[in-house]
Amino acid sequence: MQTLTDSFGRRITYLRLSLTDHCNLRCRYCMPEDAHGSGRARRLSLEETARLVGLFARMGVERFRLTGGEPLLRKDLVPLAAALTSLPGVRDLSLSTNALLLEQSAAALAAAGVGRLNISLDSLQPERFADITGGGDLAAVLRGIEAARAAGMTPIKLNMVALNGINDDEITAMAEFAQARGLELRYIETMPVGGQGEWSMRHHLPAEQIMVRLKEHYGTDLLPQHEGAGGPARMYRIGAHGPRIGVISAVSRHFCASCNRVRLTAAGDLVLCLGNENSVSLREPMRAGMDDEALCDLIRAAILRKPERHDFNAPQVAPLRPMYALGG
Ligand code: SAM
Ligand code: SF4
Repeated sequence: MQTLTDSFGRRITYLRLSLTDHCNLRCRYCMPEDAHGSGRARRLSLEETARLVGLFARMGVERFRLTGGEPLLRKDLVPLAAALTSLPGVRDLSLSTNALLLEQSAAALAAAGVGRLNISLDSLQPERFADITGGGDLAAVLRGIEAARAAGMTPIKLNMVALNGINDDEITAMAEFAQARGLELRYIETMPVGGQGEWSMRHHLPAEQIMVRLKEHYGTDLLPQHEGAGGPARMYRIGAHGPRIGVISAVSRHFCASCNRVRLTAAGDLVLCLGNENSVSLREPMRAGMDDEALCDLIRAAILRKPERHDFNAPQVAPLRPMYALGG
């Protein structure tokens, strides 16, 4: 079966699946307080999701990430994960979560084949955490992290969105928290996405500033790792045996030239670039009875429309899909 290659010669090997646009948090940079997810009828079912993932796997996509909204809100998440990991060609299934509900399901998810886990954690201070996330319970998240460790999920990566004037005084505290638990850590620059774009950019902390803080604190212990080892992240290690940390700078240093990924929304829209509106609905043709071959042709044609790079730095950025619908 022909693999997926876009018109710039980039091979697509990674699909991020947003399983829902509902969330039990309202992170300020992501989801407006009054936002509501869309209705059930639009959402792909377990069977529809598995069918599409099977087709992507046949065309050479090997890595899949479940995200959202909050994927743990899906009651069928464990059977869905098990169905996906049993498909031929699915080599790697990972999950991004806010971990609020992880304590209850970490062991079942690990048994279903979810190994790699990304957990969003922006503060270690309960009140500040609640303020950033619209009321989140830090203690529940910390219990979720411990349950994932106990279930043997690995690697567990923490994602900290670094926010100027909000949590930038916790950059090194978070590294120490990760180090003490053998976790990896990624610092993420805010991106101007969705209705929260203006707030996000008001508190944008450029990757260079994050690096300045880390260098001030760790000095020569901050060891750069091999370029490319962390996908879109620039990777470092703290000391020869310390934790791996990464800095993801989608805005100040874009990584589009080596982009290998596309996204599928919960409603079945194939989104070709995080920073661009181009998308193609796979749900409608699938529900109208399109067969597998024709769906593969549709996907291949869509991939050829993947733009060369995102438009985040353009002077007039169009309002883009919100992050809680795209899955980050
Ligand atoms: N709810 C899950 C979570 O929070 O991990 C998965 C979905 S969330 C949309 C995925 C990632 O997107 C999170 O790590 C979050 O921090 C990140 N994110 C959301 N809005 C963002 C923004 N405006 N800029 C940068 N990252 C953002
Ligand atoms: Fe929800 Fe994740 Fe967005 Fe926070 S970042 S509002 S947890 S989808």
